[in-house]
Amino acid sequence: MKQGIITLFFFAFVLTLTAQVKCSSYTYQQQQLSDPDRNATIQGVERFIQDRLTAAQSGRPSGRPDGIIIKIPVVVHIVYHTPVEKISDAQVISQINALNLYFRRRNADTASAPAYFRSLGADCEIEFQLAISDPRRRATSGIERKYTPVTKWGADDKVKFSSETGLDAWDSKSYLNIWVCNLDKFAGYASFPGGEEKKDGLVISYTAFGTTGTAAGYSLGKTAVHEIGHWLGLKHTWGDDYCGDDGVGDTPKQASYTIGCPNTIRITCSNAPYGDMYMNYMDLTNDACINMFTKGQKARMLALFDPGGARSTLLSSKGLNMPLFMDIPLPGEEDPKWLHPQLYPNPASSEMTLDLSYDFRWIGKIIFVTNLQGQNVMNVQVTSKNQRINISKLQAGVYFLAAKKEDGESMKLKFVKL
Ligand SMILES: [Zn+2]
Repeated sequence: MKQGIITLFFFAFVLTLTAQVKCSSYTYQQQQLSDPDRNATIQGVERFIQDRLTAAQSGRPSGRPDGIIIKIPVVVHIVYHTPVEKISDAQVISQINALNLYFRRRNADTASAPAYFRSLGADCEIEFQLAISDPRRRATSGIERKYTPVTKWGADDKVKFSSETGLDAWDSKSYLNIWVCNLDKFAGYASFPGGEEKKDGLVISYTAFGTTGTAAGYSLGKTAVHEIGHWLGLKHTWGDDYCGDDGVGDTPKQASYTIGCPNTIRITCSNAPYGDMYMNYMDLTNDACINMFTKGQKARMLALFDPGGARSTLLSSKGLNMPLFMDIPLPGEEDPKWLHPQLYPNPASSEMTLDLSYDFRWIGKIIFVTNLQGQNVMNVQVTSKNQRINISKLQAGVYFLAAKKEDGESMKLKFVKL
């Protein structure tokens, strides 16, 4: 065990050296499990999966019609700060196409799996399609975009809420929600079945989403494949522990995760003669070197669609039904012209306007006005995105406006009172 701890420590060290880590879902799930109620729900999902797998082994029917291909309606919420983060429809569609190739095992690179593992590979019989009806049955492209003043997002779910300048989830019983944003440090993370409905789905970095505009190592759309694996109840192949258990019978035990792109047999955890299955989507190997889900992983994922399963409600989603309302969508808010405060006119004699429209989180903050000697001469509470400031009572001279908000952004502006 001591050796195991050293190995894990070593791998953690290597991970911190790489610029972007593929997945933070394990840490995310551990946070969820610290809530006793959530823990009970997630454990209940695991019991359900085990029960369904046992039933399948004993030949009992799943309750799902045989031979159907599951179609999952997808909504992509693009939350951008800079133009490059505002990814195109084409980039989104390239991701959906990639998902369908990999989940149906129609990708050419399945031939890259070594012969001794290839027969374990599975067509998961799951497909993905951008929604054509939104939760109110209005026509949609399945893609929505919103400007945010936030420059980087953490794996803390804030991007999933409009109140945090992100975008709210669509009903997660009926849609797979995918948020694409500038995710800090990680390529992606996913909620597991049994998580909170408003936080259900994946968050993927715009540099790892789709097959265009993506970063080296993440350019084939497989981050989303991996994260959907989690969303459908799969664990990492190393079971998030030294020689841990991923709950799947046909994935070999392996010591820890794989990074980069190995091409030799790697024996760990007594898994001779074939070693680690590092070409599995649920490892952290580069996109170019992962190419399979196993039959055991497929069985776990499909169990969730059995009657009563955590993802079974998606089968009756209306997201892919024809919309009932073809109303023309209202134009979205225009992108702000500036990404910082604007003060005008300057110089001024009686009143100035402070334009804070790029970030509504300034509302409620106090602005301190100081003179050249550093004395506080006036305070103004921000009540509007275009805040008027009455300076008629100030003496002529040079002044500064200063304020700060929770994310650490501060403003300091100079003005001249005539
Ligand atoms: Zn993962």
